[in-house]
Amino acid sequence: MAQVTLKNLDKSYGSTKILHGINLEIQDGEFAVLVGPSGCGKSTTLRIVAGLEEATGGDVFIGDTRVNDVEPKNRDIAMVFQNYALYPHMNVYENMAFGLRLRKYSDKAIQERVEEAAEVLSVEDILYRRPKELSGGQRQRVAVGRAIVRKPAVFLFDEPLSNLDAKLRVQMRTEIKKLHAKLKTTMIYVTHDQVEAMTMGDRIVVMKDGYIMQAEEPLNVYQKPQNHFVGSFIGSPAMNFFKVEVQGKTLVNQKFKLAIADSHHDALKSYEGRQINLGIRPEHFKLMESTSSIKAHLEVSELMGNESYLYCTTGDDAFIARVSDNAPRKIGTELNLFADSGDFHFFDLESGQRIE
Ligand code: ADP
Repeated sequence: MAQVTLKNLDKSYGSTKILHGINLEIQDGEFAVLVGPSGCGKSTTLRIVAGLEEATGGDVFIGDTRVNDVEPKNRDIAMVFQNYALYPHMNVYENMAFGLRLRKYSDKAIQERVEEAAEVLSVEDILYRRPKELSGGQRQRVAVGRAIVRKPAVFLFDEPLSNLDAKLRVQMRTEIKKLHAKLKTTMIYVTHDQVEAMTMGDRIVVMKDGYIMQAEEPLNVYQKPQNHFVGSFIGSPAMNFFKVEVQGKTLVNQKFKLAIADSHHDALKSYEGRQINLGIRPEHFKLMESTSSIKAHLEVSELMGNESYLYCTTGDDAFIARVSDNAPRKIGTELNLFADSGDFHFFDLESGQRIE
């Protein structure tokens, strides 16, 4: 068990800077998820922790030890990759035992650890099969098993579920979460999938272009995105944005005029007469007529069984409302959509920073 600390981590390839001064403290036993769009530097960060890449600047600590110059095999970490890279000619038992054999564990110790891991992962019945005789989910479990037999201080996962079909991914997601609850080992998990991040992480670290945008508990990130990017990246369907002008206690554009609460008025005072970005999550819209509702034109209605996604336009803005009925609605219908101003998010148009 160990905490992982990144201090002012920089990484460049040639003249291209990939990571810009990453600072992050992952607590002992924490499940931290690095999430962000493809190319934002998640894997690079993880690979630097693993020692598979060298940082251009800054420090990596595992526990109290600065590990920048420590060989990967001596860092007390285990990594699970997207392509599980099981040895095809070895059975499951031998695949799991391999790392321990390299480290000269006794046969007895190896047997104990493999059997223990096999039980945790429910792969006892397939220990003598080869990888080609396994399903995708079973292979994934074996890859995780190979990591846990080593009882490392830190687990690193790099998009481990992205080769699995949607249903299996959801199942493995809960299994990895359960595994963490059982082992209580520090885990750092990389994914581009914001649903995986929301559901698995004790804390999610949202990255963009080699910077950390926000690192907080999932619900905090969802409820209080620190900037426009985080608001738009976390949540599905995504948050809607409208450019509006602040006019006293109202937000105005060419198509609507929305009243805001006194508390918001205080926060927005310095923006009087200027434009900001208003964010409203799809689930915060209700079909309701009011002086403060948005008159919208229905473009497409998706019936999900338990709810509907209404794809709407108002003027030049397109947005999605998520309502809890499944009423059939005609394309082209005019709708009145209302959201409580308590659920509004405000962002500075230029910096993208949250205003509150
Ligand atoms: P992510 O995991 O978020 O998708 P990566 O950390 O893999 O992103 O990559 C971050 C950026 O670094 C990308 O723009 C990628 O093209 C670049 N990159 C990664 N590895 C190398 C490399 N070996 N040489 C040059 N550029 C690289």
